[in-house]
Amino acid sequence: MDKISIQNLELYARHGVYPEENKLGQKFLICAQLFVDTSRAARQDDLAQAVNYGEVCYFIKEWMETHTVRLIETVADVLAREILLKFPLVQRIILEVKKPNAPILLPFDSVSVTVERQWHTVYVGIGSNMGNREAFIRNAMLLLNEQRDCQIVKASSLFVTAPYGYTDQPEFINGCLQVKTLQNPQQFLDTLHAIEQRLGRERKIHWGPRTIDLDILLYDNAVIDTEALTVPHADMQNRMFVLKPLDEIAGFVRHPLLGKTIHQLCAELAECIQKENR
Ligand code: ATP
Ligand code: MG
Ligand code: MG
Repeated sequence: MDKISIQNLELYARHGVYPEENKLGQKFLICAQLFVDTSRAARQDDLAQAVNYGEVCYFIKEWMETHTVRLIETVADVLAREILLKFPLVQRIILEVKKPNAPILLPFDSVSVTVERQWHTVYVGIGSNMGNREAFIRNAMLLLNEQRDCQIVKASSLFVTAPYGYTDQPEFINGCLQVKTLQNPQQFLDTLHAIEQRLGRERKIHWGPRTIDLDILLYDNAVIDTEALTVPHADMQNRMFVLKPLDEIAGFVRHPLLGKTIHQLCAELAECIQKENR
């Protein structure tokens, strides 16, 4: 990926833990590496299709001068996200915030914090089998899109499906979403849980009836195994109600552990089900 670099943009701001820092302010230096595909702008020699690095510099200066936070960790985290939101051509950013006059009574050049942030592609499984199922799915999508750092890029068709695992319950409506997000996997899971909560999700029976279920199927090519989160979703390859809608919007995407595309997994599962029914 191409890169635009800004080195040591100098400005004066009031971030700091000590009250004097908030009152008097001090010098900050910002370094930013913006990862961008510059080829289109370059071939047409057109500023309108480029990331205007002058605008980025003024945006950083404006943000730094009009906010006051305690930690340079917070400055770096928030500012990196704000730049990604403001300049949609930037796909990834490495941002360093330097404080050359930090209140340390020892000789030093500067202290700094560097963060790396980027847009991630997540596939989400969505399902409902209680009440007005389409409305729950629609509202979950609205709530997800309301998050500043989440955008639904594609949505599959919705399918009516038979219950899975615990079969003595109403039919489901299932679909899949492709979402672009700045949130890390745990933050994104928290977001999905908060939306489930708002839409009245209760967990009484495992795999039981639910107003809404939002599962992370794939998060970039990440493989995650913690107590709270397994990615890719551990059972997705065995679920037609996941693979069929996912095949519509991500048939070419490869499962990072099984090494097969969603389209292949869907075809294999269909064959397996057909054999069982013979
Ligand atoms: P299943 O995950 O088999 O579809 P479910 O969706 O009904 O079952 P939930 O009650 O929604 O299960 O979630 C139980 C827990 O699963 C959550 O609290 C969450 O921490 C955990 N979990 C692990 N991996 C994932 C994932 N990829 N997506 C969503 N939740 C996950
Ligand atoms: Mg589920
Ligand atoms: Mg779930």
